[in-house]
Amino acid sequence: MKFDFWRGPVAPIAALVLLFLMVLGVSLHLTMREADAVHAERSRLDMGSAVSAQIQQLALIADDNAYWDDAAKAVYQSPALPSFFATTWGSGTAEAPNYDAVALVEPNGKTRLAYVNGKQVPLQMSEHLGAVLPALQRRLSSVSPAIGGLVKTPNGIAVVGVAQVRPTTNAMRSIMPANGATMLVFLRTLSPAIVSEMGHRLILNGATIDAAKANGIALPLKDPTGRTIANLRWQSPAPGLEALKRSLPFIGIAVLVHIMLALLIAKQGLSSLRDLANQALSDGLSGLPNRRAIRARLQKALSRGEKATLAMIDLDGFKAINDNYGHATGDRLIKLAAELLSEIVGDTDAVARMGGDEFAFMTTGSEAAYKAEKIARRFLERLSQPFRIDERTVLIGASIGMATAARGEFESGELFRRADVAMYAGKRAGKMRCAWYDDQMNAAQIASHAIEMDLRDAIEADAFEIVYQPVYAAGDQQIVSVEALLRWNCPGRGEMPPEDFIPVAEETGLIDRIGMVVLRRACTDGLQWDNVRVAVNVSAAQLRNPAFSTQLATMLEEVGFPAERLEIEITETYLVYDPETAARVLAEVRALGVGVALDDFGTGYASIGFLRKFAFSKLKLDRSLVAEASESEAARTVVHASIAVARALNMEVTAEGVETADQAAMMRIVGCDQLQGWLYAAAMDASAISAEIAPASAVPRLRAV
Ligand code: C2E
Ligand code: MG
Ligand code: MG
Repeated sequence: MKFDFWRGPVAPIAALVLLFLMVLGVSLHLTMREADAVHAERSRLDMGSAVSAQIQQLALIADDNAYWDDAAKAVYQSPALPSFFATTWGSGTAEAPNYDAVALVEPNGKTRLAYVNGKQVPLQMSEHLGAVLPALQRRLSSVSPAIGGLVKTPNGIAVVGVAQVRPTTNAMRSIMPANGATMLVFLRTLSPAIVSEMGHRLILNGATIDAAKANGIALPLKDPTGRTIANLRWQSPAPGLEALKRSLPFIGIAVLVHIMLALLIAKQGLSSLRDLANQALSDGLSGLPNRRAIRARLQKALSRGEKATLAMIDLDGFKAINDNYGHATGDRLIKLAAELLSEIVGDTDAVARMGGDEFAFMTTGSEAAYKAEKIARRFLERLSQPFRIDERTVLIGASIGMATAARGEFESGELFRRADVAMYAGKRAGKMRCAWYDDQMNAAQIASHAIEMDLRDAIEADAFEIVYQPVYAAGDQQIVSVEALLRWNCPGRGEMPPEDFIPVAEETGLIDRIGMVVLRRACTDGLQWDNVRVAVNVSAAQLRNPAFSTQLATMLEEVGFPAERLEIEITETYLVYDPETAARVLAEVRALGVGVALDDFGTGYASIGFLRKFAFSKLKLDRSLVAEASESEAARTVVHASIAVARALNMEVTAEGVETADQAAMMRIVGCDQLQGWLYAAAMDASAISAEIAPASAVPRLRAV
C-alpha cells in the first residue's frame, strides 16, 4: 500500500521551515535598518564636525593673520597697504589651499581691498555675503575677535572666517582707529572637490552640496543667521545591507544546514511512520501484507467498480508439522509457502497472510476469475512437491476457496465470507483442490455450523451411541474383531451418518473429545468379549494431537483393557501430508501394543511402496475395491499385489464392505485374512455383539442381501 507523502509530516515541516525563513528574513531586515539608521546618525555627526572644523580652521587662519602687528601697521598706518595685502594675502587666493578669496572690510561695511583667485577684484563683501557679514560683525568683540560660519555666495556655499585686524602689544593699541577695527575676511568656497574630499576622509562616498531634495543622508547647512542655505549630502553606505551581503553566504549555509536537519528529522519521522504503517499492514513472519491490507485493497477495487476475485488458501497438514517439529520449522514452512505464493501471484495482484496457515490472494479486472484459477492451480501443482527444511522433507497440501464479485455486487466482507465457505467446502471434498463458491456451498456452510452447535450439545448430553460391526476370519468364519462405529441420533435431525458429522467435528476440533469418548467406550465394552479385538476409527485430526499416544495409554490403563486387543483404523490422508510425524506417532501407538490398520485402502494415493514406511498391522481393502475386484481384472491385480506386499510386511488383510457371496469367495481366494460386510453382519449394539460371539453361535448368520 502506498504511503501518502503529503499527508505525512512533510507539509507541517515545510511550513515550519518557511516560517523560520520568514522570521529570519524579517529580523535580518529590521537589524539591517537599525544598523543603517545608527550609521546614518553617526555619519551626520561626523560630517557636522568636519564642517565645523572647516569653519574653525578658517576662523583661526583669519585670526592668525589679523592678530599681527605688521598687519595692524599696514592696515591702519601704511600707505603701502595694497602691496602688503597683495603679497601677504591676495597672492594666497591663487593657490587656494585654505582660502580662495580675501578682503578687508571697514567697520562701516565697505570693502577696502578684495582678492579672488589671485586677482584683485572690486568686490563688495556686503553684497557678496549679504546679511551674514553684519551678523558676524556683531558677534565680534574684544573677547572673541575671530569668528567663522557658512555663507551662501553667488559662487556657491562657502566657509567664511572673519577677524578684527589688531596689534598684539598694548603699546601699539593706539594705532587702532576710534570707529572700530577693520575686518579681515577669508572665504573658502566649498567646491565639489573639497566636499568630496571631506566625505572621503570620513569614508563617506558621494558627498555633494545641493539645495534640492535628493537621496542619501543630508546635513542641513545653516548660515550664522540661522537660515538653511543648502544641504550637504552623501550616499548612505548602508552598513547593515553591506554586512548582510557579506554574511549572506554564511546565513545561507546555516539555513541550508537547518533545512537539511529538518528534512532529516522529517525523513526519519516519515520512515518510522512508514514503518509503523507497514507494520500495521504487514505480517511479521512472512513479510506479506496482512488481512487488513488485502481487505483495504479489495475494498478499494470494489468501490472503483472493478471485478475482483478473492482466493482463500488453507494449508493442510501444517498444524501437525508445527506440533511435531516445533515452531521454528513451522515458521520456516510458512515463509517458504509465502515465497512460493507471492512468486506465483506476481506483482500485479495482491497476496496476504491471513494468520496461522491461511493465505489469500486477489485478482482484479475482467479476467479476474480466470487469473485466480490459474494461480490456484499452479500453487497446488508446486505444493505437490515436498519442501525441504534442514534435514526434513515435508509435504503439505492446501485447500483453496474462491469467490468473485462483479461490479459493486457486494462488499469485501461478503467476498471474504464466500471465499471462506468455498475453501471449507473444498477441504471437505478432499483437500488439494480449488473450489468456487456457489449458493449450495453457502447452504452447506450454514448447515455445518448448525451441526457444530448440535454436536456440542451432544457431547454435553453424552448422546452418542456406538455400534459394532463384526469382522470374521476368512477361514473358519469366527468373529475375530468388532469395528466400533459411531451413531448419533440427533434430536430434530434423526440418525446422522458419520460421514456428515465427523468432518464437522474434525474442522471444529471437537473430534478430540468425541474420539476419546468412542475409544474409552469401545474398550470398556470390549472387556466383556474375550479374544475378540476391538477396532476403533481414529481420524487424522486426532493423530495431530501430539499427546495422542499418551492419552491412549492412560485410557487403556484406566479401563484395564489389554492394548493388544485394541486396533486403530486410520485413513491415508493424514499419512500423505506429514509422513514423518505419522510414522513417529504410529510407532508410538504400536509400541503400546496397539494394532494399526490402514483403512479404506485403494481409494487414495497410498502406493504399495508407501506401506513399507509405516508400521501397520493390518490393511483394510476398501469396499469399492472389493466390489470392483469381482468384475475387473485391473482391480483384481491391485488386490493381488496389495496382498502380496502385506504378506511381505507381515500385515493382515481385511476385505471390507463384502455384500455378496461372490465377493466373499473372491476375497477368500486372493488370500484375505478377514471379511467384513453386510453379507455377514451389519453394525449392531454391544449386547447384540455379546450374543453373536457366544459359543452357541459359532457359525455366522448369513444375512439376506
Ligand atoms: P469405515 O471405517 O470404513 O467404516 C465402515 C463403514 O462401512 C461403516 O459405515 C459401515 O456401516 C459401512 N459398511 C459396513 N459393511 C458394509 C457393506 O457391506 N456395504 C456397505 N455399503 N457399507 C458397509 P458408517 O458406520 O456409516 O461409517 C462411515 C465412516 O465413518 C467409517 O468408515 C469411518 O471412517 C467413519 N467413522 C465411523 N465411526 C467413527 C468414529 O468413531 N470415529 C471416526 N473418527 N470415524 C468414524
Ligand atoms: Mg473403519
Ligand atoms: Mg473403511
